[in-house]
Amino acid sequence: MAKRDYYEVLGVERAVTEEDLKKAYRKLALKYHPDRNPGDKVAEERFKELGEAYDVLSDPQKRAAYDQYGHAAFDPRQRAEAGGRWGGGGFHDPFEIFREVFGGGGGIFEEFFGGGERRDPTAPQRGADLRYDLEIAFEEAALGCEKEITITKPDRCDHCHGSGAESGSGHKNCTTCGGRGQVEQVLGGFMRVRQVCPRCQGAGRVVEKPCRVCRGSGQRKATVPVKLRIPAGVDTGTRLRSAGNGEAGGRGGPPGDLYVVLHVQPHDIFQRDGDDLLCEVPISFVQAALGAELEVPTLEGAAHIKVPPGTQNGTVFRLRGRGVRSVQGYGSGDLHVRVQIEVPTKLNAAQRAKLDEFASLCDANVNPRSRSFFERAKDFFR
Ligand SMILES: [Zn+2]
Ligand SMILES: [Zn+2]
Repeated sequence: MAKRDYYEVLGVERAVTEEDLKKAYRKLALKYHPDRNPGDKVAEERFKELGEAYDVLSDPQKRAAYDQYGHAAFDPRQRAEAGGRWGGGGFHDPFEIFREVFGGGGGIFEEFFGGGERRDPTAPQRGADLRYDLEIAFEEAALGCEKEITITKPDRCDHCHGSGAESGSGHKNCTTCGGRGQVEQVLGGFMRVRQVCPRCQGAGRVVEKPCRVCRGSGQRKATVPVKLRIPAGVDTGTRLRSAGNGEAGGRGGPPGDLYVVLHVQPHDIFQRDGDDLLCEVPISFVQAALGAELEVPTLEGAAHIKVPPGTQNGTVFRLRGRGVRSVQGYGSGDLHVRVQIEVPTKLNAAQRAKLDEFASLCDANVNPRSRSFFERAKDFFR
């Protein structure tokens, strides 16, 4: 391939001053620096070409030789006829020239490129994860269930398969950022702030002919159904991952995940403590005194417990394994049934009479706790 004219490479006139030459080099070298154009072979070649052109034209002697003999001045094969003063030695490393022009240790380099942060703006990007808060019933959490939710999210455009380009169309450099992927803003007249280019989102390239369905974004808002299998034993705060149901990826990257955060509604009858359940059951004082068989609710229907004669208020009966199944799969919790003795109210005359008669038959042995208490409290009544 024929070498391009050095003045043409730098886009300057032949009479260019040293100062303008440097300006032209700075501008173009920044644009084509490989750090800004990862994987772009054309930019890399341009960067090398710029270094070579600047190397020659910034040196008065080399420039004079070039002006007289053109590229032949530096070609070893043509050394003899061209005088060959510079032949054979080659050119300086384009990165060394870049560092020389931009000031050694990399100060300006870092200012321009963000201190060594080298994210490839053209690389495929994984889509963002999404969060969805789902309220479910107490039983659904305890027993497990299947749910279908609908989410609205940026999804992959079907028409262009996410590329953003109309079929048969390629990419071109973004003109907003000049292919750098970043734009600079000057704040308060002195502070430079770099931002991701709003047009190409940092890619540096835009599609030639945008997809007519998604207008080039590669994405479209879509409302999609997502089926969820909710295992038994989940609780408020449980986070379920639905792989691949997040936002669509960028530039052909994979989609993100959907995280469903569960909120379990409270229950009328049951309270939950981990995998255990608690249920309060009122019983009459007669049942408590005489004993009874009680029907109590569980998650899987009714169960029966025997309340022995003389059961006190607040006594807890445990039904093993009738709680919530462990979400980790280690068995189930227990159901704790706590009895609450209900004192009768709104008694009619006949009922009162019977209770009075009952009371007259009671001695201290019937209520041992009362007896013990009043014996201990005796001194206070004197
Ligand atoms: Zn751009
Ligand atoms: Zn599209």
